Amino acid sequence: MLRPLLTPRCLFTSTSAWQTERGSQMALMITDECINCDVCEPECPNEAIYQGEEIYEIDPDKCTECVGHFEQPQCQEVCPVDCIPLDPQREESQEQLLVKYKALTAAKQAEPAA
Ligand code: SF4
Ligand code: SF4
Repeated sequence: MLRPLLTPRCLFTSTSAWQTERGSQMALMITDECINCDVCEPECPNEAIYQGEEIYEIDPDKCTECVGHFEQPQCQEVCPVDCIPLDPQREESQEQLLVKYKALTAAKQAEPAA
């Protein structure tokens, strides 16, 4: 399978070279090279990763590229087969990722205590 030409990366500040270079960022996706090792799912601070029908998948509505939590996407950091590239279908600005992070955080805080 062809690998994406883009180098996945997650940058925390709005003045990053990556943003300057591209003008925007993207949510991440898991390719069919996933070996279902289960390592990434517990590392996601947004609970965006879940077991799909055949491989793990990422809910793009919950993926912030770890913006708001970490400087690097935690799933990419731990994936042993490097199968979590940027999703070209989900281009998002730093501001959009931050808005998503804030909305997810607010929703989590509004959850009733268990
Ligand atoms: Fe979760 Fe971060 Fe990976 Fe997005 S980049 S799926 S938020 S661990
Ligand atoms: Fe698949 Fe990589 Fe996640 Fe393992 S860490 S389940 S190979 S996406």
